[in-house]
Parts: sequence; structure tokens; C-alpha cells
Amino acid sequence: MKHNFGAGPCILPQEVFHQAAEAVLDFNGLSILEVSHRHKDFVAVMDETMDLVKKALHVPSGYSVAFLQGGATLGFTIAALNMLRETKKAGYINTGVWAAGAIKEAKKVGVDVSVFASSEDKNFSYIPKDYTIPSDVDYIHFTSNNTIYGTQFKEFPKTNLPLVCDMSSDIFSKEINIGDFDLIYAGAQKNLGPAGATLYIVKDEILGKSTSSFMPTYLDLKQQVEKESMLNTPPVFSIYVAMLNLRNLLANGGVKEMEIKNNAKSVLLYNEIDHNPLFRGTVATEDRSNMNVTFLLENDSLQESFDKMWKAAEIVGLPGHRSTGGYRASMYNALPIESVQVLVNVMKEFTRING
Ligand code: PMP
Repeated sequence: MKHNFGAGPCILPQEVFHQAAEAVLDFNGLSILEVSHRHKDFVAVMDETMDLVKKALHVPSGYSVAFLQGGATLGFTIAALNMLRETKKAGYINTGVWAAGAIKEAKKVGVDVSVFASSEDKNFSYIPKDYTIPSDVDYIHFTSNNTIYGTQFKEFPKTNLPLVCDMSSDIFSKEINIGDFDLIYAGAQKNLGPAGATLYIVKDEILGKSTSSFMPTYLDLKQQVEKESMLNTPPVFSIYVAMLNLRNLLANGGVKEMEIKNNAKSVLLYNEIDHNPLFRGTVATEDRSNMNVTFLLENDSLQESFDKMWKAAEIVGLPGHRSTGGYRASMYNALPIESVQVLVNVMKEFTRING
């Protein structure tokens, strides 16, 4: 068995892999890969998946759930187009590559973006805290967990303005108050399911209020919600596996229990990083992510030796993002604490030999 610390697509529960494999061969007599998305059996899957999202995250009434394609990357554009109002301005927090992607795409569809907070001065190694939220904008956008750098908002920006969040890499990992948000979007391929589907949780009030003259049908959340994510062929398999994964999540204590487990995993690994003299963390302690743990070797010349050791322990997916280097241990929901312990043991043994 490999220990998958990959950043995404990533590990899902083993039972889910087995159930998904079974459905590829037999989903009510057909393969899940060949069933029509209009067939009642798949419509039931779509309905249940939306329902499970609402249950898992305690989505209040007045909100809708939709599954689209295009990943969070298309979400950057969809968010901007759907949130644009009279001022055509928006406030963005820049916490790295994905936040910058959201800014770039918003500008492309005519949003006058004000970056009112940024951690670029220190290579995105912290979450900005001292900022003034502009008042004359249509909405505020931020990225709750910065997958590449390993930083995470522990407290969300407080504002009366419509709040939009890219939650791709920490949704379902901890309890959140959906009522604080007007729009949340997240690629499925972290804590939800396989790549292919993108989740949108949207406050119904905001639907159909865009002032953008450019609004392709597919990108209009109002139409997507009205058509119950069946405006065109949805990513059937990705949604099916997301349903299996959400069933599994709820059967195992839901997001609340997951948060406890994720905290335990991160305490275990950060503790080792902090106490092991051959390693150091790369981000501000108070902003450390529970999902993506980034760290460096104190001495680069030992890299080959460390790499050999974790690879021998059947660990995969540990190298950092190509833009940052170092190491990144992604510890999404399905990664068992036993895998984290294997990594910690390797780090200890490495230091015993080289320290
Ligand atoms: N936002 C965040 C926070 C991400 O981690 C990623 C992908 N890792 C993206 C956006 C881009 O997502 P996608 O590949 O689904 O377009």
C-alpha cells in the first residue's frame, strides 16, 4: 500500500475506490460510464449528491448546490461574471498562484479588481491580516486554503459585502458557516471526489443579478441551478464517486469528525517539523494549513538521501509544487493518520542517521 501525499487529484477512501470500481462494471445492469445522465437512476444520483453536500456542510435554506465542469479555473470566471453588479469593481486578496489566477480571470471579464491585501512580499508565506476591505465594490474574493504554499485562513474576512471563496483545497475538511458566503466554488479533486466536477454553493439571492453583458449560458449560475446541473451532460462518473465519498463521510461522523482527525494529523506532522533539527516549515505558524504541509530540508545536500528514504517507505506525492520546491505533504480527508506516522518515522530515522 502506498501512502499518497499528493496534492490533487488525491487519495479517497479505499471503500469508495472499491464501490466506484464495482459501478464501472455494474450500475443497475449497465456501467456507470454508459448510463444516460437523463436516466432516472442517474437523476437520483445527482439529487442524492446535492442533498449530501447540503447535509455535510449544513447548507441553510436559500442556498443551492450545482455541479459544473471546468474546474476551479473556470470558477474564477464564473464567480466574477455572476457577482458583477453596478460598480463593476471587486476586492481580491492575493495569497498566491490560485488567488492570482482568480484576479487575472476577473479582469479579463471586465472586473475592476482592487487587490486590497496580499502576501506577495514574503512569497505568500502568510495570510494577510491587516487590511481595509474596500466599501465601494460588488464583492470580495479570497482563497481559503493555498494549496501550493501551505497557508490557510483560520478566520474568514469579515464583511457585509457579498463574500466569494475558492475553497478547492479545504472544503469538507472542517466546519464552516455557509451563511457567511454568497458563493463558494471548489474543484472536486481534493476532498470531494475525482477530477471532473466542480462544486458551487450559491446563495439564491445573487442569481440572475449580474450586470455583465457577456454571459454564456453555461457560465450563468441561475440557469445551472434552474436546470439542476443538467443543462448539458454533467461529469457523471465524478459526481457518482462524489456521492459515494459523501456517503462515506457522513457515515463516519461527517465534517465535524473529519476536522478532529485532520487536526490530529497536522499536529503530528508540524510537531515533527518543529522539533526535528534537519527540517523547517516554510510558512507563518499561525497560518499553517491542515491540508498542505510545506517544509524544507535545512541542508539541501541531504536531499537525495531523504528522497531515497521516503520513497523506500512507499510514500508518494511529497515533492513541493514546481513553483516552490521543497516538500509538501498533502493530508486530505482520506489520508489516514497512520500514513502521517510513516512519514514522521522516516523523518526521525533520517535525522538519527544524518543528524
Ligand atoms: N484553486 C485552488 C485553491 C487549487 O488548489 C486549484 C488546483 N490545485 C485550483 C484553484 C485550480 O483548480 P482546477 O485544476 O480544478 O481548475
